[in-house]
Amino acid sequence: MNPPAAAKRNTSVLVSGASVAGITAAYWLNHHGFDVTVVELAPALRPGGQAIDVRGPALDIAERMGVLDAVRSRSTGLRGMTVEDRDNNETFRTNEVTLSGGTIASPDVEIMRDELIAILHQTTADSVEYLFDDSVTGIRQDEDAVHVTFRNSAPRTFDLVVGADGLHSVVRRLVFGPEEQFTRSTVGNRYIALISIPNFLDLDRWELIHRSENGHWGGVMPVRDNTELRVFVIFLADEPLTYDYRDSEQQKQIVTDHLSGEGWKFPQILDYLKDTSGFHFQAMDQIHMDTWSQGRVALVGDAGFCPSPVSGQSVTVAMVSGYVLAGELAAAAGDHRAAFAGYQDELRGYVADNQELAVTYLAKALADDFEDFGKPVDGLVLKTY
Ligand SMILES: Cc1cc2nc3c(=O)[nH]c(=O)nc-3n(C[C@H](O)[C@H](O)[C@H](O)COP(=O)(O)OP(=O)(O)OC[C@H]3O[C@@H](n4cnc5c(N)ncnc54)[C@H](O)[C@@H]3O)c2cc1C
Repeated sequence: MNPPAAAKRNTSVLVSGASVAGITAAYWLNHHGFDVTVVELAPALRPGGQAIDVRGPALDIAERMGVLDAVRSRSTGLRGMTVEDRDNNETFRTNEVTLSGGTIASPDVEIMRDELIAILHQTTADSVEYLFDDSVTGIRQDEDAVHVTFRNSAPRTFDLVVGADGLHSVVRRLVFGPEEQFTRSTVGNRYIALISIPNFLDLDRWELIHRSENGHWGGVMPVRDNTELRVFVIFLADEPLTYDYRDSEQQKQIVTDHLSGEGWKFPQILDYLKDTSGFHFQAMDQIHMDTWSQGRVALVGDAGFCPSPVSGQSVTVAMVSGYVLAGELAAAAGDHRAAFAGYQDELRGYVADNQELAVTYLAKALADDFEDFGKPVDGLVLKTY
């Protein structure tokens, strides 16, 4: 690959969010000669989450970043899955596919979210400025710059701002308006909880899945050399839930309320849920926006176009968007108007296809049809910038 060419204009960029999209964008912006600062709400890289999938073009991006081997070495290595009924009887078994990771024989990598982020972060730790435990509180743009205020740091001025701060993006709210107008619950009122608990089932690289008569899903898989279980629970609510997305205790109560009285392994899971700190909860919502940029501010990953966890594509789309946004800025020598237009042209169809996958996969899972599960979306030829 060619050595980084210094950007001609708009060289200082603030990225909000140090996760998959933000770190990938930071790496590639830095690679192309931009001066990058990343602000992250959490005091360090956020731990937790379930296994996520790195697929298709994201594998190419990982390779171009020099981390593909490291990513592969942390693969969950699942060997297959069993579907069980409410009395824990086996109803289906396969060693070709898992619900969480898709086709086992594919080149895709299933990896713990926090391990992927740690690997990506290492590529930028010495070249990108990180402001942890902080958040953007205000954004004001003019013709020449973006003026940003922070919760903890002193106000600063940047040439450009990239919102990579996830489903509940603060950059999106400050620049584009309230979240509600962009949120769509394409897969019904479904919510997902991801829970870390001890491997009380002694599972060895094998996934167990259950779908209850009430439309709730549970899945367990051993991770980190079978020492822990990661549980995912997907439940269907009668109507959209109102909750504080920063209040874990309230979210745990919501999960408990919806799954009390269910069979399978839910009673034990709910017992462990009370005391675990490894917990993540989100609506299976998607974000749909007509435009992903406004002036000098652009969005990447879940902040701009979350495809929802049921698509299995959130991480791949997040990596692709960070890579393409940075590449388009480099190709346009920092001209943000041209670059942001190019970014949207390049990815609009790809994003739509990935968002559609959430609907397709849900229908397949409900029909116990796991063929082609996790097959990446075709149609994106990754440019080299
Ligand atoms: C803790 C956690 C666990 C997850 N677990 C799973 C999972 O198991 N399975 C799955 O499919 N998806 C999971 N997701 C979502 C998945 O990681 C994303 O869909 C995907 O990685 C897209 O990445 P992203 O970088 O766009 O957004 P995210 O990965 O959501 O990252 C957003 C980042 O922005 C940070 N942030 C939020 N608000 C602010 C703010 N005001 N200022 C600065 N930074 C901010 C967050 O702390 C986070 O680091 C999880 C997300 C999180 C945050």
